[in-house]
Amino acid sequence: MKKTVFLIMALALFSTCNNTSDSEKIAGSPVDEPSISKTIELLVEKSGKDQRTRIEKGVRQVASLWRQEDGSTGDFELFCPENYISDPRELEMVFEKVSRNSEILAGHFNKISLDLQVPLHLDVGSIHPIDQKFGAYNPASHIDEDFYKNKIAFIIALNFPNYSLEEKTRLGPSWSRLDWAYVRLGDVFTSRSPSELSQKYSEVSIASDMYIAEYNLYVGQLYDQQGNTLFPKEMKLLLHWNLRDEIKSNYGLENGLEKQRLIHEAMKRIISQEIPVEMINSEEFEWNPYTNELFKEGARVEFIPEGNARYQQLLNNFHALSAFDPYEPVLNTAIKRNFDGQMEISQSDVEKLFSEFASSPQLKQVADLIRQNLGRDMEAFDIWYDGFKPRSSISVEKLNEITRRKYPDPEAFEKDLPVILCNLGFTRERADEICSMIAVDPARGSGHAWGAQMRSEKSRLRTRIGKDGMDYKGYNIAIHEFGHNVEQTISLHDVDYYLLNGVPNTGFTEALAFVFQKQDLAMLGLSQPDPLHEHLLVLDDLWGTYEIMGVSLVDMNVWKWMYEHPDASADELKQAVMEIAVDVWNYYFAEVFGIRDQTILAIYSHMISSPMYLPNYAVGSLIQFQIEQSLKEKDFAREIERMYSIGRIIPQEWMKQALGSGLSPDPMLAAAREALEVIRKK
Ligand SMILES: [Zn+2]
Repeated sequence: MKKTVFLIMALALFSTCNNTSDSEKIAGSPVDEPSISKTIELLVEKSGKDQRTRIEKGVRQVASLWRQEDGSTGDFELFCPENYISDPRELEMVFEKVSRNSEILAGHFNKISLDLQVPLHLDVGSIHPIDQKFGAYNPASHIDEDFYKNKIAFIIALNFPNYSLEEKTRLGPSWSRLDWAYVRLGDVFTSRSPSELSQKYSEVSIASDMYIAEYNLYVGQLYDQQGNTLFPKEMKLLLHWNLRDEIKSNYGLENGLEKQRLIHEAMKRIISQEIPVEMINSEEFEWNPYTNELFKEGARVEFIPEGNARYQQLLNNFHALSAFDPYEPVLNTAIKRNFDGQMEISQSDVEKLFSEFASSPQLKQVADLIRQNLGRDMEAFDIWYDGFKPRSSISVEKLNEITRRKYPDPEAFEKDLPVILCNLGFTRERADEICSMIAVDPARGSGHAWGAQMRSEKSRLRTRIGKDGMDYKGYNIAIHEFGHNVEQTISLHDVDYYLLNGVPNTGFTEALAFVFQKQDLAMLGLSQPDPLHEHLLVLDDLWGTYEIMGVSLVDMNVWKWMYEHPDASADELKQAVMEIAVDVWNYYFAEVFGIRDQTILAIYSHMISSPMYLPNYAVGSLIQFQIEQSLKEKDFAREIERMYSIGRIIPQEWMKQALGSGLSPDPMLAAAREALEVIRKK
């Protein structure tokens, strides 16, 4: 799912907040405290004491955003009283105007991007380099600058103050829908940093992406303990995704365990950076990761260990992101911006959830089951155990035949969408209404769902359809994307205020997409009721969530460590990452696995190039599970409409309103308990 532009972008990237306490002077602002206080007192006198909180918040926010080029301190002192709106009716009228214009801007910018990228995304002939240039162009990239220049940003910041996550959490339950919409508008203009910092971060981020994207291992060049090669000669695997997936796919295969162990040894040397640089992205040498010896055509040769390059990338990201801190009134660390700002769940709350989950007794019981299935003790890489995935009993060929016949072209699929919704319990009228806002396009890649940002536009379902029709894999993905489109449609059209359109974060839209995807066979009339199927899926979910929480805990603790040691060298960071990985392992995994002191949780590439992104997956999987469970128990169609018309309030409040309880690991743990009982009895 893609979201672009203006409010949405400003929110996602720089959502921050301001509070009424005496904040320190923000870097870049010429406005000093006496000037701020004077302005506040003047406005309170004019508008009444009951507006003090709002006035304080607004004036301080404007002061923190004000720059020399916006005018003198005197200009600031004039601007606030001139633009402060004390009459609630006028305020609501202005809100409605801003809201209407936000939809116009976000909607059209989104449409421009969507249309410019048609040659890249749709199956419409070859791509010329000029298509790529247009596709990469962002028409909205200067809108923030424009809105400071014409002062719209300041008028919004002054009149629609920003609330911190703590305030949203505490006050949210008593807010009306209009209050929430005002608060969302207050999230838009909250910090203003010099463009060099964004430029610098973008360079650092691209460099670390490149470092990761080019980190391949030619596994056919690896020797096992006996000096044998185990993989095909030309097999090239990207860190960490392909290496991990290769471990997953070798369960139950001949020689599988040896291959898994060999990859794991290589991973350990990558984490410790003892890997020879000669082995990275090159097939010229052979390497024994057990002994860390390098060979050229069978003869042992000297090598240079990679050293610290991996951790230097992480450190560069830390420096580039922490450079924004002095410009942030409240979210003054990258950690707070990531959690309080973007995810809107505090880092400490996330950590508490993970800790509770990763300490649950069910994990030990699942590990026993895995040991039994494998017929051996567990090894560290069994964090990727893959044996719970239920397999379909219908052959792929048979499924391909069915979907190709049913969906020869995008039109046939589009025409069938309302029927699919009816089968899920929607009335024909509602199904038609929702599907009239969804258009199916032939995708170049595997497909995606791109939502509209204004109500007059349709959301796009991009799907891959071959010459002889849609194959099963394409169909399975298309149904997932359709789930996104349904969410996008309801959360744009049925949310009462435009500024509340959407969902709190990606976990919420993925939930519906997966709920749809899991029913793909039933939608073809092929459901085979297998009671075990569902229980196995729960254990698969549980084990996958445990793993991703482990790597997330390492990621989060590493960021805390960097903030505690801002001058650390890459070498010191490497030592710290390894110690943190071992600590997390020993605390949450050692007892379950029966082995101690493992570093494997430090292998994820996200940790290096996508700062603190990993916890989103773990939180997302809990959210998904809770939503899925709730949909199972209730009237599916009606619940979807009710939940997804709540819109983009904070995640915990959304969960309470939609499901009756906040985010919690308990539903998944309870389902796992039940699954274990059923499977043990089998
Ligand atoms: Zn998705």
